[in-house]
Amino acid sequence: MEKYEQLSVVGEGSYGIVMKCRHLPTNQIVAVKKFLETEEDASNRKVAIREIRLLKRLKHENLVTMIEAFRHRKRFYLVFEFVDGTLMDELERAPLGLGEQKSRERIFQVLRAISYCHKNRIVHRDIKPENILVSSKGLVKICDFGFARILSVSRELCTQYVATRWYRAPELLVGERYYGTPVDIWAIGCLFAEMMTGEPLFPGKTDIDQLHLIVKVLGKPCSRHQKLLSKNSQLRTKFKGKSDTSIDLNRLFYYWPLPTINFLDKCLKMDPHKRFIADELLKHVFFTADQFPTRFLITLREMVEIEFNSPLLKSFKHEVLRSTDKADSVEQRKMQQIPSLWSITLKDNSLKRKLFVK
Ligand code: ADP
Repeated sequence: MEKYEQLSVVGEGSYGIVMKCRHLPTNQIVAVKKFLETEEDASNRKVAIREIRLLKRLKHENLVTMIEAFRHRKRFYLVFEFVDGTLMDELERAPLGLGEQKSRERIFQVLRAISYCHKNRIVHRDIKPENILVSSKGLVKICDFGFARILSVSRELCTQYVATRWYRAPELLVGERYYGTPVDIWAIGCLFAEMMTGEPLFPGKTDIDQLHLIVKVLGKPCSRHQKLLSKNSQLRTKFKGKSDTSIDLNRLFYYWPLPTINFLDKCLKMDPHKRFIADELLKHVFFTADQFPTRFLITLREMVEIEFNSPLLKSFKHEVLRSTDKADSVEQRKMQQIPSLWSITLKDNSLKRKLFVK
């Protein structure tokens, strides 16, 4: 720790604190996550080791880069590139939302990072505004892999973990014991709606209230979840007769353009099997209609090139760019095989847009 001068505390979590520090040999600003003492608490140790293991493996321009990890006086320290803001800060500054353009730029980068994680069989499990770092130039970096989980090839029971309630998927709320990558997609949908409106979409006060708020907008849970609910005496009584009065997203966001609502709808399917995967969402007409990805990827790469020329990050540049490009090129190849998702149908003298997506 002698190499680092502590400047201020930038974040506090359940596992320790994050400090803004100066790396004395290079004078560069970094973020240092200092875990609570590990000797006394086995779960702290587990979280720290899991985060280190995953971050060593994951390299992408929209994921926070870990510079080094070490142990010092019974504590784990993780050193990261420093990012000067979070999506939470942006939302606090914009009570009416970030606007469609900015929301699209932010969610595109979140999806790119999550698509990369999912391809590497890693579920983040705690996507929320505090864990989305955003630089002053608009470059997004997902952080906090303390809750993330590696998916095994066999169907393994998942632990009942506590992710932030407002972004929790229905399968977690009804206590489904097998869940996977769709939990991140749900959280991304909630995040997107919040960016667009400035208000959290489902701000539940308890777990039951959370499920109520969801059902009120999106309707009944899927049949598998209904079965689970009927077996749960606490939840069963609370949900009787509540599910047919849903509002639906079209009515809630009637003032949004159709592709934008459709994009959100694909993230917020009650049945996790029907939710789009990250790659499908990246190809959604919400992004592709005006060639946004082609233009925006160039801007992003320019920002990343500058960022990775700094003394501490230089040695990671090649690996980060290579693994990002690898993920993108697979995408681009697939994209050429996908037919156009939109068609125009003339019906009753009115021009009706029809979406040919799953
Ligand atoms: P915890 O697992 O203890 O919640 P996080 O990794 O989520 O810790 O970090 C907590 C907070 O610290 C984040 O919400 C963010 O505000 C800040 N933070 C984390 N990493 C960085 C970073 N690399 N640069 C700047 N701030 C960061």
